[in-house]
Amino acid sequence: MNPQPVIAVILASGSGERLDSAMPKQFLKVAGKTLVEHTLDRFESHPQIDEIVLVVHPRYRSLMEEILLRGKYGKVRKLINGGASRQESSTLGVSAIEATTGIVLIHDAVRPFVSERIIADCVAALAESGAVDTAIPATDTIVQVDAERVIRSVPKRKELMRGQTPQGFRLDVIRNAHRRAAAEHFSDVTDDCSLVLKYGLADIVVVAGEETNIKVTYPEDIYLADRLFQLKRAQVPEFASLEGLSGRVIVVFGASRGIGAAICDRARILGARVHGFSRQEGVDVASTAQVAAALASVSAVEGRIDAIVNTAGIMKTGLIETRTDQDIQQEILTNYWGTVNVVRCGIPALRKSGGHFLMFSSSAYTRGRSFYATYSSSKAAVVNFVQAMAEELAPQGIRINVINPERTDTPMRRENFGQEDPATLLRPTQVAEAALKTLLSDLTGQVIDVRRKREP
Ligand code: C5P
Repeated sequence: MNPQPVIAVILASGSGERLDSAMPKQFLKVAGKTLVEHTLDRFESHPQIDEIVLVVHPRYRSLMEEILLRGKYGKVRKLINGGASRQESSTLGVSAIEATTGIVLIHDAVRPFVSERIIADCVAALAESGAVDTAIPATDTIVQVDAERVIRSVPKRKELMRGQTPQGFRLDVIRNAHRRAAAEHFSDVTDDCSLVLKYGLADIVVVAGEETNIKVTYPEDIYLADRLFQLKRAQVPEFASLEGLSGRVIVVFGASRGIGAAICDRARILGARVHGFSRQEGVDVASTAQVAAALASVSAVEGRIDAIVNTAGIMKTGLIETRTDQDIQQEILTNYWGTVNVVRCGIPALRKSGGHFLMFSSSAYTRGRSFYATYSSSKAAVVNFVQAMAEELAPQGIRINVINPERTDTPMRRENFGQEDPATLLRPTQVAEAALKTLLSDLTGQVIDVRRKREP
């Protein structure tokens, strides 16, 4: 528990004129969710945030209510109507706070990439200071112009930073700033720190922002946001405890060895009801009949399936010209079609349970590699497929993520690369731990990077 309550005010009341779209930008969908949902997720899942005041345009209030009902946003205590300008919306958001003391983080709903670190740094800085801004160094030279766009000055770049959000304040400081501005009918600012500065209410310290903490404003920002989500390698969820696995029914394909076997072992120890299948036992992920029969057998015994994990994969190396058709086709069938097949067959069971799919890619997915071109491209296809499925399955309450393990000490790796220094490889048990944490998280459509812990 924080010594002082931390309240996030999320501004989602813009009308989105600059994006030239029928919908305000905070309601545009990227990676299966609206931008405002991505932003809410960041604050909802942050352990230091106690409550959220969400400010929305009255025209989109019912849409926002639907979103809130669908998602698990237990921290959203208030949904209030915004005003004609950002400043007005912010004033309304701050006045809706009921607490008498605390700290307030004001954030743009259209900055869905705000990191856990930025939020934590803002909260930490407010222990010492009455106000914080999040900013990054200006890389462009900024010019000051007059109404005719004639340059009047060129401030020194090294003294300039670009302001982002969140901006954070002690509650009394930001209340005072908005009250004074309202009393004077002053409504000329595009951020909240400007008010604190204008009335000299506190020193405003700067917390390091991030280049990826973009404000989705123009159409090309949507493209960028899409790419950022695609490339963003989520970290293994930090806050998940594995106790929640007890009693869950988990199906693992590719369970006979390597990562699949490690997931089965660890999940059993944690009290899950695990059903592992593998090709050796007659369940090939490329066979619809075999996968469907395996899932049906689990449903018959358990009455439900909570998670379906597919670790089955093949890696064959060699110059593309020298490999046989059959060899290549088998690899693509197992790695790509196997993933598609497992998901297709598993949807009915996971729809009933609101369950979770977990697929496996490889660090080779971002860039094709010589000698294993079909392996790396099949793993890229898996990521792309999972992202698409996250969108398709979200309305049905099904989550799907993909684990991207670094080089892991598995039989498949040894068969292709021989002996390697074990210190440079992940252990299957580490990947299993990350996979199980992911299954307990609310993430969907994410590529979860699993990396070795390096010595500091
Ligand atoms: O328009 P601007 O880029 O300043 O918007 C920043 C944030 O403020 C956005 O999340 C937008 O939804 C919000 N905003 C608001 N009320 C307004 C205008 C903008 O809540 N009237």
